[in-house]
Amino acid sequence: MKCPMCGKDTFVTKTGGYSYLGPKGPPITVNDAVWYECSNCNERGIPAKLAKQLDQARKEQRKLKEKQDRPTLKWKPEPNKVRCKGCEVVMKREVLDEVPDPKDETNIWHVCPVCRTPENFVSLCYHPDCEEESTCGVPTVDSYVFVCSTHYTEIGG
Ligand SMILES: [Zn+2]
Ligand SMILES: [Zn+2]
Ligand SMILES: [Zn+2]
Repeated sequence: MKCPMCGKDTFVTKTGGYSYLGPKGPPITVNDAVWYECSNCNERGIPAKLAKQLDQARKEQRKLKEKQDRPTLKWKPEPNKVRCKGCEVVMKREVLDEVPDPKDETNIWHVCPVCRTPENFVSLCYHPDCEEESTCGVPTVDSYVFVCSTHYTEIGG
């Protein structure tokens, strides 16, 4: 093929690993690439398929980086912790009684096993020793957690 840059008949199909070094970040590599390259002037031609593969690889690299940038928790998150606003007792959501709404049986009420108040709970911070109301959600390396403003600051979310 004629090279679009130098005009010589040295524009050939290449296969294998193709690395692209973008303006920022580490190079992006596609392992099963097909492209054109001139052996005279090094001009490269990227077919649509490779352009798509590079785009995909770039997206995956970005996703991976976002994940690595997330904070790591120094404690084991304890989800489903609630406080009953009726009796102030802190408990796990699992211990709540499930009672059908007398007017609509498909609707289930969660009732406090201590004071019998229905649907009167606040969700608490996932920190195991914290009983503050959870106000912020933070994606961490392992999971998405809901915490109070103090632990939100501590995590650095
Ligand atoms: Zn050329
Ligand atoms: Zn209660
Ligand atoms: Zn907290």
